[in-house]
Amino acid sequence: MTHATDEFARLRQRMVNAQLRARGIRDPRVLAAMLAVPREAFVPEVSKAEVYADSPQPIGAGQTISQPFTVAYMAEAAQLRGAEKILEVGTGSGYGAAVLSHLGAEVHTIERLPALAARATETLKRLGFSNVHVHIGDGTLGLADQAAFDAIVVTAGAATLPPAYSEQLVEGGRIVIPIGRSERNQQLYRFRRGRNALSMDDLGAFAFVPLIGKAGWHPA
Ligand code: SAH
Repeated sequence: MTHATDEFARLRQRMVNAQLRARGIRDPRVLAAMLAVPREAFVPEVSKAEVYADSPQPIGAGQTISQPFTVAYMAEAAQLRGAEKILEVGTGSGYGAAVLSHLGAEVHTIERLPALAARATETLKRLGFSNVHVHIGDGTLGLADQAAFDAIVVTAGAATLPPAYSEQLVEGGRIVIPIGRSERNQQLYRFRRGRNALSMDDLGAFAFVPLIGKAGWHPA
């Protein structure tokens, strides 16, 4: 099934009301970003009919575009005001990076699978997201040559907090990251870098694909 552009706009509006506002997403800039980014442009044809459903969708290579609520919730948790330099780990489709690019000044996003990175680069370029830069590599090491970041948003589930993230964060910066003992079930945490230490908030239970790399899970 295919939808016309205005049909997608209607589905997007409904998603923002029913899945985001109704569940407590309050930041008006986050809601505006979720209303602005055409999620349908980031998924392959097979996923388009269900793209505004309340669930993740397959994007190929065994990976998924996160559920809309999860994208909005993580973006809100990062507490962005517009001037931030952001690192996203796990580009996937590029959708999350597009949402973050509405909320900060500059987004660097890193993906370990070259085919996904290539497709996301192409999509973001076609849609005119000039403040998003896609990198290929192991995001468990952060992105040293672009540090320091005001916010780091990790969209795959880690086993522990990779040490590079706090090293590459400004004082006052936030890391939003799912961490869990199993590869599929995590708690979402927000860490904030203070002068001498990190503070931590628990933001609830989620299920992400595993973060695979030197400071993450090992490749299967
Ligand atoms: N933000 C994405 C969600 C993608 S799912 C979106 O909006 O579509 C998580 C992604 O993290 C997958 O594409 C997976 O390949 C990637 N990933 C897993 N481990 C990684 C690592 N060490 N470095 C970079 N990307 C990684």
